[in-house]
Amino acid sequence: MSELRFDDVSVRYGNRRHGLTAVDGVSLTVPSGAVVGLVGESGSGKSTLARTAVGLSPVTSGRVLLDGTDIGRLPRGRRPIQMVFQDPYSSLDPRMTIGDSIAEAFPRGAHRGRSARRGEVGRLLELVNLDPDRAEVLPRQLSGGQRQRVALARALAGQPDVVIADEITSALDVSVQGAVLNLVRDVQRQLGLSMLFISHNLAVVRYLSDFVAVMYLGRIVEAGPTDRVLADPQHPYTRDLLGAAPARHEPVAAVGPESVADVEPPDPHDPPHGCRYHPRCPVGPLVVAGRDVCTTDDPSVGADQRPHDAACHFPLGKSPVPPITDLSGRPTPVG
Ligand code: ADP
Ligand code: MG
Repeated sequence: MSELRFDDVSVRYGNRRHGLTAVDGVSLTVPSGAVVGLVGESGSGKSTLARTAVGLSPVTSGRVLLDGTDIGRLPRGRRPIQMVFQDPYSSLDPRMTIGDSIAEAFPRGAHRGRSARRGEVGRLLELVNLDPDRAEVLPRQLSGGQRQRVALARALAGQPDVVIADEITSALDVSVQGAVLNLVRDVQRQLGLSMLFISHNLAVVRYLSDFVAVMYLGRIVEAGPTDRVLADPQHPYTRDLLGAAPARHEPVAAVGPESVADVEPPDPHDPPHGCRYHPRCPVGPLVVAGRDVCTTDDPSVGADQRPHDAACHFPLGKSPVPPITDLSGRPTPVG
C-alpha cells in the first residue's frame, strides 16, 4: 500500500503567449489504501493531473510523490502507479490477444516461462470476472464492458500500489456501468489498492470514494471525506454538481439573475480574476450585492482555514433546515 501525493502541481500547455494552465497549483493526497474521487466538469484538468502521476504529462512546477519519493526517482523495472483510461483501446493493442496484452504489462522478470505466464493471465482474468479460457480472443471480440475489465486486468498485471481510473465507465452503456463500478470497488478492497478515481459525474464518484476533491478550471475548490462534502457542500460549485439549489442561509439582496448556471464556461486561456467560478456562481457577485471581493481576491488563499478547504469567500456553511410543511406541502404557520 502506498500514498500518492500531488504537491503544488502545475501543468502548462503551449507557450507563454498562447498557452493555458490546465492544472494550477494542485495539492492532493491519496492516502494508502483509500479511494479519492476527483470530480469536475470536462476541461477542468482532471486528466492532466492524473497523467502527471504516470509521466504522461510533464509537470511545469511542483512534485508528484509516491510514499515521499519523487516519481521521477522511482526504481526502474516496475511501475507502481498504473492508469486505466476511458477508452480501453488506448491500452489494448487491437491486434494482440487480450492474454498477450495482459502479460505484456508484467513487471520485468516476473512470471517467467509460458505456463507461469498463462497461469497469471488466467488469475487476473478471473479477478476481473472474465473466463480465463478467453485469453486468446482479440479486444474487438469483447463487449465494451468486457474490454474495460481487460484494461483493468492489464493495469493490475503491473502489480501496482496505486491505480488511477480516469472516466473508466463514461463510455460504457449505463446498463453495464454499475457492474464495472462494483468490480472496481471489490478489486480495490481485495488488493488494498490506493486509488484516484476520476469522473465528471459526482454520483459515480460518491459510490466508490472515501474522499472527494472537486476541481474547477485547474484548481481544487473543495475537498474532504465524501460523506461530509456531500452532506454539507461548502463551495457553490459542489452544490451545483449535486444538483441542489444554493443555500441562502443569510438574507441577501439580489442584484442580478436568479440563475447564472447557463453562463458559458470561461475560457481556460484567460481565466476570470478573483474566484474563477464567479461569473457562474449562483451566490456570487453577479447575483448577490456586496460580493465584489469574488472578482478581485483569489479564494484559494486561506482555503485551508475553511471547512473542506473550500476556495470560496462565502462558503455555504451548514445547510439550512428545510421549512416545516404540513401534509398538503404548505408551510406551517408560525406561532
Ligand atoms: P478534464 O480531464 O477535466 O476534462 P483535461 O486535463 O483533459 O481536463 O484538460 C484541461 C485543459 O487542458 C482543457 O482546457 C484542455 O483543452 C487542455 N488540454 C488538455 N490536453 C492538452 C494538450 N495536450 N495540449 C494543449 N491543451 C490541452
Ligand atoms: Mg479527462
